[in-house]
Amino acid sequence: MQQVFIVFLLLLYVVFVKSIIFAARNNHTMNHPFRILPIIMKARRPSRITDMPAVRDAFWLKKGYTAMTFFGHIITHSAEEANQLNMLSGKEPNGKTPKPLNAFSALKNHEMIHLRQAQACGDSWLRFYWRYLRYWLQGIRLNRQLRNAGYLLNPFEMEAYEHMDDAQYLDHCPDGATGWKHYAAMSATQRLEHYIGKQTLKNIEYDKENAGA
Ligand SMILES: [Zn+2]
Repeated sequence: MQQVFIVFLLLLYVVFVKSIIFAARNNHTMNHPFRILPIIMKARRPSRITDMPAVRDAFWLKKGYTAMTFFGHIITHSAEEANQLNMLSGKEPNGKTPKPLNAFSALKNHEMIHLRQAQACGDSWLRFYWRYLRYWLQGIRLNRQLRNAGYLLNPFEMEAYEHMDDAQYLDHCPDGATGWKHYAAMSATQRLEHYIGKQTLKNIEYDKENAGA
């Protein structure tokens, strides 16, 4: 219990310091970082969400990341990116998923996979984020071998990256996406080996495709 309290205090401290720096740089009021509070307060259970609206919130999204699933919303850096994502309902009027996927709809698919993963975590956002944090902590120990290992070797991300280009993937997951469980059963080192194996395979295929060109 004491540990949870210390983590909470640390988090509060980080938010406080970060909001001061952000306010100074962006000439904004201190209220800005707390715009996400209503999103958390009004969050519905993952299974009850059919589509996630995209909103711009530059404060909470780390540099280098395009978007983030946040309690049933997708957070982006710019209003333009949010608009583009909001134009994609995920389905065409005839109910079919559009093919082929462009970069933005693959991104939308990626975030929707996270939504369905939260559904598979006892239909709870808190359980999803708690697991996400645990997997991230397991991964960062391998940061020396792989840059950004906490993120890239996170079982939730591994499933989302593997299937984001497959427009039909979520059609086969009515009770939530569970591909992450396969990776969660592995040790962090095994995940690293799997990741490196996949990257090598991708490079070989890329070389083959370009050999004739
Ligand atoms: Zn992701």
